[in-house]
Amino acid sequence: MPDPSMLLRAIFESSVAGIICIDSHGLVSKFSPAAERIFGYRADEVIGRNVSLLMPEPDHSRHDGYLANYARTGNAKIIGAGREVTGLRKDGTRVPLFLSIGEFEADGRRMFTGIVSDQTPFVAERLELRESEHRFRQLAESIDEVFILRTPAPYRYLYISPAIEQVFGLTADAAIADPGLFFSFTHPDDVDFVRRTMQEAQFEPGLEVEYRIVRADGETRWVWTRYKRVAVAPGEPELLAIVVSDITARKRAQEGEILAREEAERANAAKTEFLSRMSHELRTPLNAILGFTQLLEMDELSVAQQESLRHIARAGRHLLGLINEVLDIARIDAGHMSLSLEPVAVSEVIHEVISLVLPLADARGLTVIPPDEGADAQYVLADRHRITQVLLNLMSNAIKYNREDGRIVVTCEVRPDGTTSITVTDTGIGIAAEELERVFLPFDRLGRENSDIEGAGIGLALTSSLVRAMNGRIEVQSTPGIGSSFSIIAPSVERGGEVAGSPAPITPASAPDAGPPAHTSRELVVAYIEDNPANMRLMESVAARRPGVRLLQAQQGRLGLDLIKSGRPDLILLDLHLPDMSGEEMLRRLRAEPGTAHTPILIVSADASPGRVERLMGQGASGYLTKPVDVAEILAWFDRLQDAAEGGPR
Ligand code: ADP
Repeated sequence: MPDPSMLLRAIFESSVAGIICIDSHGLVSKFSPAAERIFGYRADEVIGRNVSLLMPEPDHSRHDGYLANYARTGNAKIIGAGREVTGLRKDGTRVPLFLSIGEFEADGRRMFTGIVSDQTPFVAERLELRESEHRFRQLAESIDEVFILRTPAPYRYLYISPAIEQVFGLTADAAIADPGLFFSFTHPDDVDFVRRTMQEAQFEPGLEVEYRIVRADGETRWVWTRYKRVAVAPGEPELLAIVVSDITARKRAQEGEILAREEAERANAAKTEFLSRMSHELRTPLNAILGFTQLLEMDELSVAQQESLRHIARAGRHLLGLINEVLDIARIDAGHMSLSLEPVAVSEVIHEVISLVLPLADARGLTVIPPDEGADAQYVLADRHRITQVLLNLMSNAIKYNREDGRIVVTCEVRPDGTTSITVTDTGIGIAAEELERVFLPFDRLGRENSDIEGAGIGLALTSSLVRAMNGRIEVQSTPGIGSSFSIIAPSVERGGEVAGSPAPITPASAPDAGPPAHTSRELVVAYIEDNPANMRLMESVAARRPGVRLLQAQQGRLGLDLIKSGRPDLILLDLHLPDMSGEEMLRRLRAEPGTAHTPILIVSADASPGRVERLMGQGASGYLTKPVDVAEILAWFDRLQDAAEGGPR
C-alpha cells in the first residue's frame, strides 16, 4: 500500500485537470502543474494571491462575496456539483472550463479544492455543431421547398422549414405540435395513395410522389414529395427527410400543354381529313375533264376543235398542278408530308432537271450552264423526288423570268458548315430588294399577274416549304435588271451508298400506246369498282377504244366482290374510296381468294402520296394509277394483257 500522501502528490502532479486549493478567504495555497498549463501562470505567481485572479468579470469582483455568503449561510450551489465557467489566463485570454469544487478541513481551517478541466476542444466542437445547424437552418429556410425531418415510427416531426406556410398555409409550429395535422391537408382522393407511399417510404430510399393537397384556405395545389432515409449518428435510428415542393404551376402548364396538344391533334386530324376529301373531290371531276379530253383528242377533229381541246387540256393540267401544290403545302403544314430522306447524288438531280427543262430553255434561246465536272460529285440528305421538284421549280422560274438569249448557270458548292448548296443564277428581270421577302408567300406574284408570264405564285411557297421539310433552307439574291440567284441549301452527307429509287414505276412494261386498237380474237374482261358516275363513264369510253375489252362495273365493294367472282375478270381496276368498304380491304380480300390471288389489280386513286402507293404495292397491287388517269396508260395495260393472252407482244 503506497503512502497516501505520496499518492495524493502523484495525483496532484500528474492529473490533466488543474487542481487549485484555496482557503476560506480565497487565497491560493496549491496550484498544480496542469493548472499552470491551463492558466499560463507558474505556481509561485499564484500561490498566496486571491483566486479571483483567475476569473474574468463579473466573477472576479464577486468571488469574495460568494465565499463570504457561503461562510455565512452554508449555501453553495457549486460545491459538490460541477459547472461550466470561464477562466482568465495570465495573458488576458479567456478559457472555457469545467469546474468542480470540493471542501475539506485541514488543521481546523476550511479549505476548498477546485478541479478545472479545459473545455476548449469540446467548445470548438460544439460551436462547429451549432454553426452547421445554423447553416442548415439558413439553407432549409431560404428554399421554396418545405424541408421536413421526422422520426420513422411512431412519427414525430423534428424540424419543418417555414416554407410550409406558403405551400400548405400552415405554420411549422402548428405542424410540429400536431403530427396528424400536416397529413390532414392531403386531398381526399389522394389520401390512400399517399398513406401507402409513406409506408413504403420507410423501406424504399429516394421515393418520390406527386399528389394534391387542399390548403387551409381551400385552394387545391399539387406537391411533389421526396422521401429519403438519413443516418444522423452512428447507432441512432435513421430519420426520414422529406422535401415537399409546390408544383402547381408546372402541373397546370402540363395540363394546358396536354389540352393544347389534344386540340392541335384534333385540328390536325380534321385538317388531314379535309385534305384527303379535298384531294378526292377536286381530282375526281378533273379526272373526267382530262380523261374525256384525251379521248376526244384521239378522234378526228377540226383544227378549231383541236385548238379548243388543247385549251381545255392545258387549263385542266394547270388546275391539277395547282391543286397538287396547294395540297402539298397544306400537307407539309399539317406535318403529313411523308418524305423519304436518303443520300441523293446532287449531280444526278441537276442533270435530270436540266434535261427536262432544256427544250423550254432552247425555245427561249437561253443557254444553260451546268456545274463543272466533279464539283457536283456530292450527296445531300433529301427526298429525291422532292428535291428534283424543287430544283425544277427554280429552273423553270429562271427560264420564265429570264430575258431572251439570257443565261442560266447552275452551280454546286460544299459549304464548311456541313451543307451543300445548289444555286440557279439567271440573267433575268430580277427582284427589287423590298420584294424579296414576298417571293415565298403563296399567290404573291409581285405584280406579274397581268404579264404574259404564266404562273399562280405558289411555286416558291411550296419550294421553300419542301426544302424546310427536308431540313434545308432556301436563299435568294437578286438585282433588278441583272438577274437572280436562288440557292437550295441541304445537309451534306458523306457518301451516297445505295440510293433507293422512287416507288416501282406503275406503268405497264410495254410502252404506252394510244395507237390503233389491236384486233384480238380473245376478249379481255375488265372489272372497274368505282362509285363516281363520271369516272365510270370515262372508263366506259376508254374501254370502248378497244373492241376486245368488256367492262364490268360495280359501285360498291361488296357488289364488286360478287361481280368479280361471277365475271372472272382478267384485270381489276379498283378505286380506293368506296361507300361500303375501303379499297385496301377489298384488295386484301381479293388477294386472299384463290380465284383472284394472281389477277392483275390496278389501284385507281386520287391519293398518290408515296407512303400509300408503297403500302398498296406491298399489299399486292399490280400497279397504281393516279387520277386524273392517263388514258394512254390504261390502254397500254389493256393491250399488254391481250398480248400476253395471245402469246406475245404485237
Ligand atoms: P409563279 O412563278 O407561278 O408566279 P413562284 O412562287 O414561283 O410563282 O414565284 C413567285 C414570284 O416571284 C413570281 O411571280 C415572280 O414575280 C418572282 N420570281 C420567282 N422567281 C424569279 C426569278 N428567277 N426572277 C425574277 N422573279 C422571280
